[in-house]
Amino acid sequence: MAFIDRTARALLLTELVAGMALTFRAMFKQKVTLNYPHEKGPISSRFRGEHALRRYPNGEERCIACKLCEAVCPAMAITIEAEPRSDGSRRTTRYDIDMTKCIYCGLCQEACPVDAIVEGPNFEYSTETRAELYYDKEKLLANGDRWEVRLAANLAAEAPYR
Ligand code: SF4
Ligand code: SF4
Repeated sequence: MAFIDRTARALLLTELVAGMALTFRAMFKQKVTLNYPHEKGPISSRFRGEHALRRYPNGEERCIACKLCEAVCPAMAITIEAEPRSDGSRRTTRYDIDMTKCIYCGLCQEACPVDAIVEGPNFEYSTETRAELYYDKEKLLANGDRWEVRLAANLAAEAPYR
């Protein structure tokens, strides 16, 4: 009986037909894969990606060189040097983050009293050398300028929970 059953299945190509039917049904289902990097999934406003230093709308740096982020950083990845400007305001002369040390804990962002240092939505910043992951102030400010709209929107979304 089993022999007849196997022979009938082989002759009628039932497995092949069943497989093709499954493929046909899947063609009309919603796809679960993304064509990265052309398509990207949603990212939480709490996502902790590449760091950025933000400015005020008038272009002035937010950072007041209080060094709280440097003190709180568990990886000791942040290095800050500061001195007063001629107008008496205190600003950094050096703000470096060694991204090879950073563990993306977000404590620097939490500690900052003026929302200057933030972790943004960018996760596409792989490099070919370690040296490129030693971020200086210029690089961090450029990141802030580039991502400000998203950064401000994320901070606004998270404000009720902080
Ligand atoms: S995310 Fe954490 S480890 Fe990275 S720089 Fe900020 S405090 Fe340091
Ligand atoms: S980024 Fe924020 S916490 Fe760090 S030194 Fe500047 S003002 Fe202070």
